[in-house]
Formats: sequence, C-alpha cells, structure tokens
Amino acid sequence: MEIKSKIVIVGAGLAGLTAAIHLSKLGYSVIIIEKNSFPKHKVCGEYISNEVLPYIQWLGIDVESLSPSNIDSLHFSTRNGKSIKAKLPMGGFGLSRYAFDLLLYQKAVENQCEVLQETVDSIDFKDDKFSVYLANNTIITADFVLGAFGKRSNLDQKLSRTFIQKKSPWLAVKGHFKADLPSNLVGLHHFDGGYCGVSKVESDVVNICYLASFKTFKKFEGIPDYESSVLSKNPFLNEIFEKAKPIFDKPLTISQISFDKKNPVEQHILMIGDSAGLIHPLCGNGMAMAIKSAQIASNLLDDFYQKTILSREELEEQYRLQWNKNFKNRLQTGRILGRILQHSKLAEILLQLLIAFPFLLPLIIKNTHGKLILPSKS
Ligand SMILES: Cc1cc2nc3c(=O)[nH]c(=O)nc-3n(C[C@H](O)[C@H](O)[C@H](O)COP(=O)(O)OP(=O)(O)OC[C@H]3O[C@@H](n4cnc5c(N)ncnc54)[C@H](O)[C@@H]3O)c2cc1C
Repeated sequence: MEIKSKIVIVGAGLAGLTAAIHLSKLGYSVIIIEKNSFPKHKVCGEYISNEVLPYIQWLGIDVESLSPSNIDSLHFSTRNGKSIKAKLPMGGFGLSRYAFDLLLYQKAVENQCEVLQETVDSIDFKDDKFSVYLANNTIITADFVLGAFGKRSNLDQKLSRTFIQKKSPWLAVKGHFKADLPSNLVGLHHFDGGYCGVSKVESDVVNICYLASFKTFKKFEGIPDYESSVLSKNPFLNEIFEKAKPIFDKPLTISQISFDKKNPVEQHILMIGDSAGLIHPLCGNGMAMAIKSAQIASNLLDDFYQKTILSREELEEQYRLQWNKNFKNRLQTGRILGRILQHSKLAEILLQLLIAFPFLLPLIIKNTHGKLILPSKS
C-alpha cells in the first residue's frame, strides 16, 4: 500500500505530538507514526519547566485540567546529606507522562492528524521526496519528515548515526509512589554513581526517577539491592525510600542513555526532541526542549510553504542555526554538570560553593533553561 502526505512525523512523544498539533492548527495535513499505544508510562522525572506554558496554551492544551503539582523550589543534596534549597527562577509543574502525552495525543486526533500505530523500519530520501517504510509494508511518501523518535531508536541504527555506534554507560529507573512529601519541591539527590529526582505529579503521586552509571549498578543483585546499598546512603533518599509505598508492580527501566552530540538535521530529516540531542535529566529541561524544537521546525515548515523560505537547503540551514542558538549552550552546561556529579568530591565542592554563594544556583538553573516559549514566530 502507498500513502501520500506532505508532512510525516515519526514518533508521537512530546516533540512529535507538539509538531503535529502546531502544523495541523496551521492547516497542514500531518501523518504521525508511533509504535506504541496510548496511554503509556515513560521513564522521566516528570518535572516540566513553566517556560512551555504560553505556547502550549496557544496549541489548545489545558494542562490545568489534569491538576498538575506546582513546583517552585529545588532541594539539592550530596550523597553524605549536605543540602541546599533554592527557589526555581521560573518554576514548573509535575505531570505524569502517562497523562501529558495522552492529553497531547487527544488534541492531535481532535485536530484531524492521522495517527498510525506502527513501527517505522526505515526512511529514504531520493529525488527530493521521502519514502517512509513501515513494518506492515506500507510506504508513505512525503515532502518532509520530522524525526521525533526519541533518545534511541532502531532508526538511529538505520541512519548510521555516530552516537549509536558507542556504548553508553547510563541506565535509568523510575517508579510512582505514595508518600507524604511537599508538592512544591523537586528534589535532586546525589548518590555514588548517579542522581535521583523526586517530585510530585498529579493526584498526589510521587515520581522517583534516577540515572545511574552501569559500572556501579552491575555490582549489585538488582534494583532493590542497589537502592538499599547505594541510593539509601544519602540520608534524604533513605528517608524518602522508607516512607514511599510503590504504586507500580515493578519499576520501569531503560539503558544505553547517551548524552553525546547528535546532528539536528540528518539525511534531510529535521530531528526534534531527543532525536536531536538529550540534555542531562538533572537539568529538568528535556521536555521543554522537545516542545521548543517542535515549534521551531513547525514554524520553518510553514515559512517554506508560505514561500518566505525558498529551498530545502535554506530550511535545513535555518533549522540548524535556530537549534544551535536555542539549545547548544544548555546541552553543554548539562554535560558539565553531569560530569561534576559523576565525581562525589567535585559534587561536594559544587555544593560548598553553592552554600557559600547562593546566588550561583539560580544562575546555573537559568543556564540550563530557556526563556518563556511564546507562540509568535520570533
Ligand atoms: C531518566 C530521565 C529523566 C528525565 N527527567 C526529565 C524531567 O524531569 N524533566 C524534563 O523536562 N525532561 C526529563 N527528561 C527528558 C525527557 O524525558 C525527554 O527529553 C522527552 O521525553 C523528549 O521527548 P521526545 O518526544 O523527543 O521523545 P519520546 O517521548 O521518547 O518519544 C519518542 C517516541 O518515538 C517512538 N518511536 C521510536 N522509534 C520509533 C519507530 N521506529 N517507529 C515509530 N515510533 C517510534 C517511541 O515509541 C516514542 O513514543 C528525562 C530523561 C531521562 C532519561
């Protein structure tokens, strides 16, 4: 079977769904292909920076209808229990990916986007057209493809992307819990080999999500052993684990998480969200970046069809420029922080510095975040 479409989006996570809603709002017909069904839990800290609010409102997304938690403060601790609290410069909200992705999916369907539940096997570009090959043997031809297939996909292998050739030392674990914890606080607690984010989402549920080095993890029998032997050495995490009652039967896990550089345009595909680059989760900004990059790509595609951008080359160059302008520094700061937290001594020094000069913490946070995402094109 062959289907024709102007714009195909591969992956219906936050980036893909945002672009689908934006483009359909402007009147473009969009096909979005997602291998999984909705709703689904995802490994994520589920803290979303308030920078996304004006733009998602413009898209017609009412997050308040899901009663997210309002988060205005950060509690950062080192593994031996030294800690600092600070106000978050812009703040954010806590919302499960289960609920947030579903809300966006429902909006995309309401906007008449065609959502196909299928795996994309490969993507070809020839004679100025894309062919998107699905696992069920359907071929979709398109003028443009947005790659929104997340941090690691079979397609990265097919596209021979450099980062996928290397093993990555990180894995992540996430679970939902019931625990009596403040709703306005996001905790970032360091432990030997990683860091753990703790914050509330909707319905008074606590999300606990940590990133751990495979090197430290593999020495233990499994998740419970690792958590009691390593994470619980941090007194704050120990207290949280003692009072937290799990909601999931077992935690969700992912491995091979890479923070390496990626190209925002690969074989003419405009990459959005994690497909273009993943920021260290400790920055709490990946979702806002996914949403912002979808806005940039959607606006540029509109410029192309409105003939203010005159060629594919110009479109790709503009996307590269805007992507780098918006995200390059944030990713760099995230990498530096990630490296510091890999070493407990450096993490201690960082904390001492932050205690001595408290104005530094909001400055670091600002460097890992963007400005308010306004609906306008500029
Ligand atoms: C441990 C951890 C904690 C995090 N915590 C936070 C946080 O607190 N705050 C924050 O802002 N960010 C956080 N992030 C980052 C955030 O989760 C991501 O930046 C965000 O999910 C990116 O959205 P996306 O749409 O690019 O990718 P995804 O949400 O991963 O969506 C990609 C979609 O593509 C689909 N797909 C992949 N391949 C194919 C294929 N071949 N065919 C069809 N479909 C396909 C997948 O099924 C998936 O649904 C965290 C990340 C990690 C790893």
